[in-house]
Amino acid sequence: MTLTRRHMLVGGAALLSALPVRAERILPATGPRVVVVGGGWGGLTAAKYIRLLDPGIEVVLIERRTQFHSCPVSNWVIGHLRTIDDITHAYDALAKRHGVRLLHAEVEAVDVDAGAVVTSDGVVAGDRLVLSPGVAFDYAGIAGWDAAAATRFPAAWSPGPETAVLRAQLAEIPDGGRVALSIPPSPYRCPPGPYERISLIAAYLKQHRPGATITVLDANQKIVSKGKIFKAAWDELYPGIIDYRPDSPLVQVDAATGTLSTDFDDVTADVANVIPPQRTPALLRDAGLVPDGATWAPVDPYGFTSTLAPHVHIIGDATDQTTVGKVPKSGFIANSMGKVAARAAVAALSGREAPPPSLINTCYSLVSQDEGASVGAVYSYDPETKRLQVRPGSSGVSSQRSAAVALQAWDWARAIWQDMLG
Ligand SMILES: Cc1cc2nc3c(=O)[nH]c(=O)nc-3n(C[C@H](O)[C@H](O)[C@H](O)COP(=O)(O)OP(=O)(O)OC[C@H]3O[C@@H](n4cnc5c(N)ncnc54)[C@H](O)[C@@H]3O)c2cc1C
Repeated sequence: MTLTRRHMLVGGAALLSALPVRAERILPATGPRVVVVGGGWGGLTAAKYIRLLDPGIEVVLIERRTQFHSCPVSNWVIGHLRTIDDITHAYDALAKRHGVRLLHAEVEAVDVDAGAVVTSDGVVAGDRLVLSPGVAFDYAGIAGWDAAAATRFPAAWSPGPETAVLRAQLAEIPDGGRVALSIPPSPYRCPPGPYERISLIAAYLKQHRPGATITVLDANQKIVSKGKIFKAAWDELYPGIIDYRPDSPLVQVDAATGTLSTDFDDVTADVANVIPPQRTPALLRDAGLVPDGATWAPVDPYGFTSTLAPHVHIIGDATDQTTVGKVPKSGFIANSMGKVAARAAVAALSGREAPPPSLINTCYSLVSQDEGASVGAVYSYDPETKRLQVRPGSSGVSSQRSAAVALQAWDWARAIWQDMLG
């Protein structure tokens, strides 16, 4: 895309007088600059670690939200185990402790050739771009989807207020009522996330709403992650409460009646949570960073640079796993990618070769209010396939659910929030 006259370049001293107020506040550029888009798991980590690795590099982080909301642990909020305040954090320390320049604005376009980002407050140019915008939701294949459906069937699958909406809806369910939940085809953000949500909704219904049930329409052939553990927990802890239907993609909704339909069934519910199919946001597609017909943005995992624009880094859930390697779309992985991209960007700006990348992941899921299970692996770079591969002997899944893992899950969340925001 080409910058128009309406867009003023931030970063050029000659244009200082013409700058919009909020953009002017983040000037002047003091040296080499990296512009990071998205203050979620990938972007926060990249921004902070670039500054830790080289305080001589200016980092501008652009994020539309003024507070950080965590998706990890948000299922616990929906299940009434934690509050929305527990998963909401300030961005302040990034600026105060690490000198990251925060711009709360909407990013409207990315100009790959100019190395610039068009925001609602003006244009920010950098020597390198790191893009971590998360996922977009794709409702195109769901007949009947409209504004009423968006209100009636919140996804609660991106950071923010829909988590509180779904929690409140659940609290309104009558005894003997019905919840419905639809799961999109994989890959989607957080493979075990829907199954943790089902477990915690079932736990809530069991404790507070006698006779209430949850019907699950899963587009996948089977439970995508930690299948045996979830299945055992559902059979043992929630008999008669969870009606799990694999191979049941959602094809239609009716907001007026609260009905979700597959090709074979109609499920009418008091509360319905539609988790839609996902893809790389249009922001990156419009910038030419996603090939025509593709769903995700291809990258070279050595430094998480776009295969279509090697001077632009793309990290987090927006990346194409077929180019990265078989890593899940998780916050822990986005955090790891942020560190790899930070090292790669710093190396590129100083004319050095970046070290080979390595990622780490552990996904914790609660299966009840006080028990959980985890799955984890370490990934290293394979120069032959140019992909990340599980390091032999490094992967594992809990053999059974336990209270210890549930406690670790909370400790992990607090530690990684601190790693990104502290
Ligand atoms: C219910 C649930 C539970 C989960 N549990 C776990 C878990 O236990 N462990 C785990 O590791 N992962 C978990 N995840 C997955 C994790 O949340 C994601 O993998 C992670 O958030 C991906 O990071 P990201 O940086 O790619 O995107 P995000 O964290 O979504 O960050 C993207 C950011 O970019 C901003 N943004 C996007 N577009 C623009 C724009 N145009 N202008 C300005 N700002 C913009 C957004 O506001 C957002 O803050 C869970 C997810 C869900 C939904």
